[in-house]
Amino acid sequence: MHIDARNLPNNSTIEGDICIIGAGAAGISIALDWINAPYKVILLESGGFEYDDKVQDLYKGETTGQKYYPLKASRLSYFGGTTGHWAGMCSPFDNIDFMKRDWVPDSGWPISKKDLDPFYARANEKLKLGPYHYDLSYWQKEVPNLNPFPLDANVVWHKMWQISPAWGFGGGLGKVYKGDIVKAKNIHLYTYATVVNIIANENVSNIREVTIKNLAGKTHSVKAKHFILAGGAIQNARILLASNTQAPQGLGNDNDVVGRYFMEHLEIPTAELWLFKPFPTDLFTFFFEKPKLWCELAIAEKVQIENKILNGTAGLSVLSSAKHQKPRMEVWQNEDPRKSKDNLFKSWDIASKEAEKENKGSITRAFEFQTRIEQSPNRNSRVTIGPEKDELGVPRANLHWQLTELDKRSIRTINKIIGQQVGIAGIGRVKLNEFLQDENDNSWPTNTNGGWHHMGTTRMSVDPKKGVVDANCQVHGISNLYVAGSGCYATSGAPNPTLTIVALSLKLSDYIKDKMNK
Ligand SMILES: Cc1cc2nc3c(=O)[nH]c(=O)nc-3n(C[C@H](O)[C@H](O)[C@H](O)COP(=O)(O)OP(=O)(O)OC[C@H]3O[C@@H](n4cnc5c(N)ncnc54)[C@H](O)[C@@H]3O)c2cc1C
Repeated sequence: MHIDARNLPNNSTIEGDICIIGAGAAGISIALDWINAPYKVILLESGGFEYDDKVQDLYKGETTGQKYYPLKASRLSYFGGTTGHWAGMCSPFDNIDFMKRDWVPDSGWPISKKDLDPFYARANEKLKLGPYHYDLSYWQKEVPNLNPFPLDANVVWHKMWQISPAWGFGGGLGKVYKGDIVKAKNIHLYTYATVVNIIANENVSNIREVTIKNLAGKTHSVKAKHFILAGGAIQNARILLASNTQAPQGLGNDNDVVGRYFMEHLEIPTAELWLFKPFPTDLFTFFFEKPKLWCELAIAEKVQIENKILNGTAGLSVLSSAKHQKPRMEVWQNEDPRKSKDNLFKSWDIASKEAEKENKGSITRAFEFQTRIEQSPNRNSRVTIGPEKDELGVPRANLHWQLTELDKRSIRTINKIIGQQVGIAGIGRVKLNEFLQDENDNSWPTNTNGGWHHMGTTRMSVDPKKGVVDANCQVHGISNLYVAGSGCYATSGAPNPTLTIVALSLKLSDYIKDKMNK
């Protein structure tokens, strides 16, 4: 059922069993999981069904530190959330991503990959992916010509990805699931319903209600038994920090952790791969085919441990095209996310036309590695709220993005290891880009891109001094408030976040169902 909150009489009270705040990947996945359950689910969405610049403007905020995309343009605020722009690239985290690693400060999740595996399988379905198989051998049986490079898999292995057909090119999850959500009798979707405050009881152990507002000047309140914050990692931290009626430092923030440990995936051109002769494989170029697949070179767990590095993978792009591409961080600077996206697509188009002219149809032997790595958790990389307020009176979010020496050393070592293995296999040579050549150089190049992946601001830990949520994504100390999304990541793994967001959201969904049934 769909209700436009602008059309309700002012000061309406909405009541239900579960209240989900935000209808992006996390919020929609949970709502779908409750269709036909004997409970009333309230799904609150800040925007409508289409882009609305006035709503999007609520996302505006300052950025400092490492250069970043404008906050207004780095996510989307309407039904479907940022999946209206996502590329659909999905792969699960590795075992090591959940482990405590002595050389990675504050690493270690209170859950393991094994705990998440059943939910990954369900997440694959929600994202309309193929079967839950991410091993190369499985896909080689399904698709011809997926030949791997002859590298020692104990050192460098081939990590498979699936690309969701619910990607931004087709309108994202909003387009795919609007019908199911609107038709469901027990799901009450309210659009133009922006949560501006979460109100707890006196001793801040329970949430009583949330206040919603919209730009039509209406204010309403929502009461429920359980509240799930699913507004994206920056928004979730912002709402908790701004909800300071009972807790002056913000909800869940007794230990000053909310907003801290912001992480992105660094996605940076790092090296050139020159093969001695063209290699007969579709493995690295299957992105737009059916089933949509992709592969990247990854470093084995044992080798990461030996070298004390972060997890990361290298994807291959055709060098003649890649070298004509402008840095993503440069072209995605328009405050309007649609214009930023158009700028990026234009720059890709120009680059591929230049490449066509150069290649004249010949099969390429030269590639660029774009390395994607997790960022080391860093307390000082953080989201705060500033003095400036948005149109609805909520303090705007500010982001200070900060990288570390471990990030730089890891990206260099990953490329060196891959280079050595390519040499040992006798298939070609790898040349590191300039910024990686000097071991003592800790600077970052202008094409230091993020993947638009916001993580870590409400991190998971059993220790309330080190995390905002516990292993079930419940906010420490508040019995009916939960966070869904990549803000809960203790460390960010190397793969893009959304498959894991959906898996973790479905785990949370089961946890609340169990609680309700009891
Ligand atoms: C260009 C681009 C490419 C990407 N490519 C990939 C990719 O290939 N693979 C991948 O895994 N990820 C990718 N991502 C990231 C992916 O889109 C996000 O990880 C994912 O959408 C996050 O899901 P979410 O539900 O946590 O947040 P969102 O999808 O951002 O949804 C949050 C929703 O909450 C609503 N909301 C926010 N605040 C409030 C409030 N106060 N009250 C009510 N509602 C609120 C918003 O309007 C929004 O609809 C990409 C992102 C971009 C921008």
